[in-house]
Amino acid sequence: MAGLHSSMDPMANRSLTEMDRAHLIHPVTSFRGHEAHGVRVLSSGRGMWLTDSDGREVLDAFAGLWCVNAGYGQESIVEAATEQMRTLPYATSYFHYGCEAAIRLADKLTDLAPSGLDHVYFTLGGSDAVDSAIRYITHYFNAIGQPDKKQFIALEWGYHGSSSTGAGMTALPAFHRGFDLPRPWQHYIASPYPYRHENGDDDEAVIASTVSALEAKVAELGADKVAAFFCEPIQGSGGVIVPPVGWLKAIRDACDRLGILMLVDEVITGFGRTGPMFACDAEGVKPDFMTLAKGLTSGYVPMGAMLMADHVYQAIADSAPAALPVGHGFTYSGHPVSAAVALEVIRLYENGLLENGRKTGIRFGERLQAIADHPLVGDVRWRGMLGAIELVSDKSTKASFGAELAIADRLNAISWENGVIVRNFPQGVIGFAPALCCSDDEMDLIFDRVEKSLDQLMDVAEVRAALGVGGK
Ligand code: PLP
Repeated sequence: MAGLHSSMDPMANRSLTEMDRAHLIHPVTSFRGHEAHGVRVLSSGRGMWLTDSDGREVLDAFAGLWCVNAGYGQESIVEAATEQMRTLPYATSYFHYGCEAAIRLADKLTDLAPSGLDHVYFTLGGSDAVDSAIRYITHYFNAIGQPDKKQFIALEWGYHGSSSTGAGMTALPAFHRGFDLPRPWQHYIASPYPYRHENGDDDEAVIASTVSALEAKVAELGADKVAAFFCEPIQGSGGVIVPPVGWLKAIRDACDRLGILMLVDEVITGFGRTGPMFACDAEGVKPDFMTLAKGLTSGYVPMGAMLMADHVYQAIADSAPAALPVGHGFTYSGHPVSAAVALEVIRLYENGLLENGRKTGIRFGERLQAIADHPLVGDVRWRGMLGAIELVSDKSTKASFGAELAIADRLNAISWENGVIVRNFPQGVIGFAPALCCSDDEMDLIFDRVEKSLDQLMDVAEVRAALGVGGK
């Protein structure tokens, strides 16, 4: 680490906080807000635990950014990367070149994925996987002589990354504000949000409402104009919105009836996060496109993937003159180090990690269910190791706390002080996505700390005032 900390380095006397404030742009963060807050430097990790630059040890209940599914410090992943770096640190996939790790990974992924998804394009993460799908879908409809099919539909509260066009499939205002999005060809239908649905206790009603909203939107735009519907099986960044079981299958059937392609974005839900390898597996859903990232490499190195159904691939292949390239490519598509890491991570998933996640997922659900009785908690929801609690100021009316109270930010800050990292969402939702290596004891510690944090939040005067329970 001499290069980072050398005493000859004039920069060494400046604190990381100063350097960060001066130069580093943080994702999805208020520039001035971050300058005032300052950076929280994470230094090392092992299993479920992270250590910051002050030596504070915290339990990471969010697996980094719902990506470190295998937990920190898995030696065999480090070894796979090291070995690949030594042997061949880079190989292009352009011009008919390739490398063993990327080829084996493509074979493995198409084997694991729902049938029909026989082709893989590798990306650097989820945003460019979504963006690649938009490009290939556009290309596909031009190729098959239906150039008018260019309208895309997604869900309110959906998140599909932040590329220049993919961020328009995302339906969160922060990703549109100031970025001239969405584009005129990007549309949304209501989310299957049981807690906020007028018939939320009735699974069939929630499912039927999305199906009819999709049918109505396609009718409004014209079936001959709509290219595809994009959705997450569980809406992650929108606040971990868990649709009823059977919802994804009903949407698949609706897309078939309507003659539109279906893209399932499994960037969060893939690789055991909800129990099975992919959320699609639980309902036997076979999408036309699937996007993956995060758990693919467990966050150890960047990589995403876009899986394409064979019927789409064949249509694109047949339509183009053999000599003409399909002009979509990234220098790091199929990077050998990322691919070697992904192969090792998948080996770990198949050799006990997914199983452990399913087992600890039972404790996760029990502890979430128990927290539902807390006076601040209006809703708890989860599937597998992906869950959330929604804080409300009135359980009977489901009224949210006012935005000025920043209730989830406050809980997040208290939880950090109590030694656990959770994720806060703007509408008062706290998300959880522990690594699949989590033990029952670690899960108990997470929830003991979260419960303590909720109790402390109850002691805050403004919170008590919003609850109408008076001062302490
Ligand atoms: N799609 C979904 C469902 C996501 O949750 C994310 C990231 O959280 C993305 C796409 C974008 O992935 P990335 O941040 O790797 O670009």
